[in-house]
Amino acid sequence: MRSLLLVVISLLAGCRQQPTNARLAGTWVDLTYPFDSTTVYWPTAQPFRLTVVSAQRTPAGYYYAANNFAAAEHGGTHIDAPVHFAKGQHTTDQIPLSQLIGPAVVIDVTQRADSSADYRITMDDLTKWETAHGRIAAGTIVLFRTGWGSRWPDRARYLGTVKTGAAAVPELHFPGLHPDAAAALVDRNVSAVGIDTPSIDYGQSTTFDVHQRLFAADIPGFENVAHLERLPATGAFLVALPMKIKGGSGGPLRIVALLP
Ligand SMILES: [Zn+2]
Repeated sequence: MRSLLLVVISLLAGCRQQPTNARLAGTWVDLTYPFDSTTVYWPTAQPFRLTVVSAQRTPAGYYYAANNFAAAEHGGTHIDAPVHFAKGQHTTDQIPLSQLIGPAVVIDVTQRADSSADYRITMDDLTKWETAHGRIAAGTIVLFRTGWGSRWPDRARYLGTVKTGAAAVPELHFPGLHPDAAAALVDRNVSAVGIDTPSIDYGQSTTFDVHQRLFAADIPGFENVAHLERLPATGAFLVALPMKIKGGSGGPLRIVALLP
């Protein structure tokens, strides 16, 4: 205990001597869409609602602002906890921080996705990236850029339909991963997988095989990740912290990257 105290004191002293080191060097990029009435949710999910409780000066003389909010777990920039498609696997609050914070790579399939809204990221896409940058290391957060972010929040172009409810689901068209690519990511023991579309499975999926494969291995998913065009293929450091919903199957995610 005493030695721990000494370490803490010497660390604090170090900070005082070198105040410029107090802030992490680099540029922070916010990969999160704001939550408001335009935020895109799954057609069957309850969208984000904000109710103003107070936004005024009180009789006591001070200003007071407060709101209530409600939303489905799965909408906007959010996390899928493994339990979402794998019974007994991690809930939102159980995902280790070590899987949510760490080095990230970006695999850009924009050109291929551009020619088909039903594009599925293949093993070939992974192989191409690994040929250029080396094998994806264990513990990496792997982000897929399809270019779909440029369509946000236009529901017709982003989801493939403006309808809501169960009838809209067969009309969903957006890119996702092929199950073979998901299997390779499990092989590589990655920490998490993210994408700039509404789902890691493509819009036309009816069995959600990518969700099933990754989540069985306790690898969480990040969906509707914003601004992936601002990230390099390698070198970004990611922090992706969801609301800590106990027993949650997902939740709103604040995801940011530090660029060197
Ligand atoms: Zn989700």
